[in-house]
Formats: sequence, structure tokens, C-alpha cells
Amino acid sequence: MQQFFIDSTLEINQEKKLKDDIAHQCIHVLRYQDGKMIRCVDQDGKLALCKIRLNNEELFATPIEFVTNNAEMNCKVTLIQALIRKEKWEYCIQKATELGVYRIVPIELKRNVVHWEKQETNRKLERYQKIMTEAAEQSRRNNIPKLENIIQLSDIDQYKSEINFVAYEAEDSSHLRDHLNHPESITIICGPEGGFEESEVEYLVKHGFISVSLGHRILRAETAGLYILSGIDFMLEGIKNA
Ligand code: SAM
Repeated sequence: MQQFFIDSTLEINQEKKLKDDIAHQCIHVLRYQDGKMIRCVDQDGKLALCKIRLNNEELFATPIEFVTNNAEMNCKVTLIQALIRKEKWEYCIQKATELGVYRIVPIELKRNVVHWEKQETNRKLERYQKIMTEAAEQSRRNNIPKLENIIQLSDIDQYKSEINFVAYEAEDSSHLRDHLNHPESITIICGPEGGFEESEVEYLVKHGFISVSLGHRILRAETAGLYILSGIDFMLEGIKNA
């Protein structure tokens, strides 16, 4: 059953007109007919099973029942990801969304090979937020992760969490798993294809980030954040939900 996020609140048996892009998808792409059921997550994160009604190009949904949906990680993970090549960036944000990321923050680091021109940043952020919304619908999440605007290293403090890690490829004494207890929130920063400058890691450690290794293999930039999200979900969520 297809899921959509809608920006209003739902009430049982109160019909709602859905946005044109959802109507277009249901009518022309999915070819849904009257009476078809869909999942709608409202702006408060409530999930309802809804019956649809078509009227030409318009689509209406009537909530039949609310259902619980616990698709979010208990730990809010912020991924601060250095800009990487477009197709890898899009892959990374889509998979991070499926893996439960809470927030993604693009960052400009010294060895970035990719730079966003000022005038194209808003268009890019819009496109990437759409990718994350579609991934959140497909993976049936309760919430859509937020894509923040691009930051510099000096902005880092406002994106810190209860515990903060820098995944540093040259780190050889401490592994991420050595530090995972049950935090409410984690921030992890991953470098670009060219990796971190040592001075950047020193700055981050001074600002409370723990330098951690992700193991002996050097992961691609788009893989590192996904490895971390999988590990956190596997280690923390498994225990909590057991
Ligand atoms: N150019 C670097 C090198 O050859 O050593 C590799 C950088 S790697 C492609 C991109 C980012 O992924 C790194 O900056 C780091 O954040 C993360 N990463 C990849 N493998 C890692 C590992 N084994 N331990 C910690 N971080 C890792």
C-alpha cells in the first residue's frame, strides 16, 4: 500500500483533498481507482489508512482508521556529509533515509572535489529533499528526514548531538562500536572522496567529536555514512526493541 506525507492533520471520516503531485501519481502513474486504500502520514506524524475518491484530476482521501507505525530509530542520527559527486550524493541521501537518518547536513571541507555554486544551491536542496521524501514514503517512515543547507566546519557546533563522532580514515585505535551506549542522539561527520585533512580532525576533536575508525577497509564516501547508520540501527534498535 503506497504511502504519502500530507501537510495537514487527518481526522477519521473527514475527507481531505490531496496535493496535485500526489493526485497525478495516483491517477496517472499508479492508475488507482475509486475505493483504493493508501497510507497517509499527516503533519503530526499520525498514520491513517485512507480510502480514495477521484474527481477528474482531483484526488480525495478519507481516513478510515489510524494505525501505529514505529518506523523511526529511537536514536536521532544527524549525518554531516561532505559534498560528493552528484550520483553518489543522491544514492547516499536516498539510502540514508531508508536507514533511518534523522537529519542530513551537507558540509564543505578542504578536500571536497565537488562545490555547489551559490545560485544553484536552493534548486539542489529542493531536488534532494524530494529524493528524501520519496525514500521516506517508500520505506514507510513516520517522518521525512530534514536536509539542511550547506555548512562550513566553523558552523559545526549547532549540529552536535549527545555524542559526536568523526569517521576518520586514519584513525587506528578507536572503533565506532567502542563508544555506542544508548544516546538519544548522535552526530557523525564523514569526509569527501579525498578524505579529511588532519587539521580538520583536530578542529573537530577540539569541538567534542570523537575520532573513530569504521574498520580496516577504506569505505567510499557514500558508503561510510550508510555503514554507520546500519551499525547504529542494528546495535541500538535491536537491543531496545528486543
Ligand atoms: N582518501 C581517503 C584515503 O584514501 O584514505 C579515503 C576517504 S574515504 C573515501 C571518505 C570518507 O569515508 C572518509 O573521510 C571517512 O569519513 C570515511 N571512511 C571511509 N573508510 C573509513 C574507515 N575505515 N574508518 C573511518 N572512516 C572511514
